[in-house]
Amino acid sequence: MLVTTKKLLVVAREKKYAVPAMNVNNLEAIKAIISAAEKMRSPVIIQTSEGAIEYAGIEYLAAMIRVAAKGKIPVAMHLDHGKKLEYVRMALANGYTSVMFDGSALSEKDNLRITKQVVKMAHAKGASVEAEIGAIAGIEDFVSVEEKDAHLTNPEQAAQFAKETGCDSLAVAIGTAHGAYKFKGKTHLDIDRLKRIAKLVKLPIVLHGASGVMEDVKAIAEHHGAKLGSARGVLDQDIVAAIKQGVAKINIDTDLRLAFTAGMREAVDDLPTVIDPRKLLEPSTLLMREVAMRKMKLFGSAGRVK
Ligand SMILES: [Zn+2]
Repeated sequence: MLVTTKKLLVVAREKKYAVPAMNVNNLEAIKAIISAAEKMRSPVIIQTSEGAIEYAGIEYLAAMIRVAAKGKIPVAMHLDHGKKLEYVRMALANGYTSVMFDGSALSEKDNLRITKQVVKMAHAKGASVEAEIGAIAGIEDFVSVEEKDAHLTNPEQAAQFAKETGCDSLAVAIGTAHGAYKFKGKTHLDIDRLKRIAKLVKLPIVLHGASGVMEDVKAIAEHHGAKLGSARGVLDQDIVAAIKQGVAKINIDTDLRLAFTAGMREAVDDLPTVIDPRKLLEPSTLLMREVAMRKMKLFGSAGRVK
């Protein structure tokens, strides 16, 4: 059934697990994710970035996600990184149950003002709002924050911001980064900062840029010609520690992209006589489903749907 993110996340924070928020651009990804959620009995957030909406069209995406939500699994349909009000309006008009407003590139004053406006718009339609305070490094679709400019979330400021905006969940910057090349040296999440944030902010906390860049998936892609070099992600142990401190929504895009394209490279390599695109897309869908299931286990969301 289609639900808001608030409904999924408040209970997740209370019970100390995280709901996976997975980015989709096409039918295969939506089917892979909902099939993983059904198998694992996990609630799930299916989200689309502004880039996904540009690529596939919001009406196609919303219609497909709505079909995925018809079964027993609670599904939230979420706009990831809405930076323009136009996308927020579009999402709400198309039945999204949740929107993120990303004002991290704005001044603090403008971020506060526009986030308040988004909260008003979304709540009037019964939808939830994720806001962002602090800036998460890296590149993901239209999101680009130079690492040097990225600043980590200040706990007191976050508490004030959450209170004043009336948002339902809060994305924080604690050292994660978007994309497949997150860390130059050692991976490092500022769990101590997260602890201080969670003490003051009682809302569900959201972690972006949290893919792990799984070695076995990377190996399949590289075996079939991908050049991923020093791609590196967040350690599983850091994810578990973050959930313990109040992170209730974890965004996964990079790991799903890696799985999908690894399956694609493998299929093209291994099936040179096949011309049926469905056969060539099958390994992509299966590998993405496998990665989604692993995340549900790691996040503790598996088995939460009775
Ligand atoms: Zn993000």
